[in-house]
Amino acid sequence: RAKQTGRNRFQFFTNSLQEHANNLMEMEQDLRLALEQNQLEIYYQPLVRAQSGRVTGVEALLRWHHPTQGMIPPDQFIPLAEDTGLIGPIGQWILETACRQVSQWHQQGLKFYLSVNISGRQRDLGLDAELLSSILERTELAAGQLVLEITEGMLLDNSDETIAWLQSFCDLGIHLAIDDFGTGYSSLSYLKRFPIDTLKIDREFIRELTLDNEDALLVEAIISMARSLKLRLIAEGVETAEQRSALFRLGCEYLQGYHFSRPLPADQLVNWIQAYQPERLTLR
Ligand code: C2E
Ligand code: MG
Ligand code: MG
Ligand code: MG
Repeated sequence: RAKQTGRNRFQFFTNSLQEHANNLMEMEQDLRLALEQNQLEIYYQPLVRAQSGRVTGVEALLRWHHPTQGMIPPDQFIPLAEDTGLIGPIGQWILETACRQVSQWHQQGLKFYLSVNISGRQRDLGLDAELLSSILERTELAAGQLVLEITEGMLLDNSDETIAWLQSFCDLGIHLAIDDFGTGYSSLSYLKRFPIDTLKIDREFIRELTLDNEDALLVEAIISMARSLKLRLIAEGVETAEQRSALFRLGCEYLQGYHFSRPLPADQLVNWIQAYQPERLTLR
């Protein structure tokens, strides 16, 4: 075994590449069936106000209940959905299902907005203002209650087409947020060119946050920039009461994270909200 030849190792390498390719093809076939076989489910995670702790919105997060592999997290199949174009129909299903759900919650007196992640690939796969306005109409959700989360990577091309695409959503009254802010792109000039109104600070900056470390300086800088540009700011990945209070003291207005709740299936989110007793913070 120790004297394995280079040739054998090469053989091993190609085998595992082959295996990888087979797995991908199998997963692609499975993903094609996922929608029609009802294996996809949307989980919802609350977005809360830092000071009052009250829920202001929910983010829709996709889950795949695979028939043999169990729950597959989105990071493991969204890229495949993008490469294969399946993100087109899947993305449309997410929007339609989540808008209908939140609209239903509104009718039950649960008032919060809906945030949905979209992928740049959806632009060439039928996602446009016309589709969005028909979804909003069908589901009876007000455009102002919908936020689309995009990543900095989607703005990299800085093209007029991308701007026009996003602007057409804003013209409907839909809001746009930059997800994972601070991890994707070094130039901030896109903030001027694109009709963005919310930044979500990536949890990378929150993980080790205390009031007196470098992350706090970075978060403080982002907060003051967001203020001057009149952008709404949400911190992602808030896991502890300490992080919550540090963010509140630094002036971050909105928070999201396991400290409040993990993403939950729709019915469990309602139970969580009904049992939830927000804790108010005061500056001392
Ligand atoms: P994201 O949009 O940045 O979503 C936030 C992720 O952070 C979610 O992971 C959420 O479960 C996780 N998270 C929330 N609070 C905490 C916390 O306190 N600590 C930690 N460690 N994690 C926290 P999830 O659900 O696995 O989703 C991963 C990514 O997959 C999302 O990141 C988003 O980029 C993508 N994604 C999810 N659903 C969709 C979708 O419907 N469409 C598209 N295009 N992408 C999606
Ligand atoms: Mg997101
Ligand atoms: Mg994020
Ligand atoms: Mg992300």
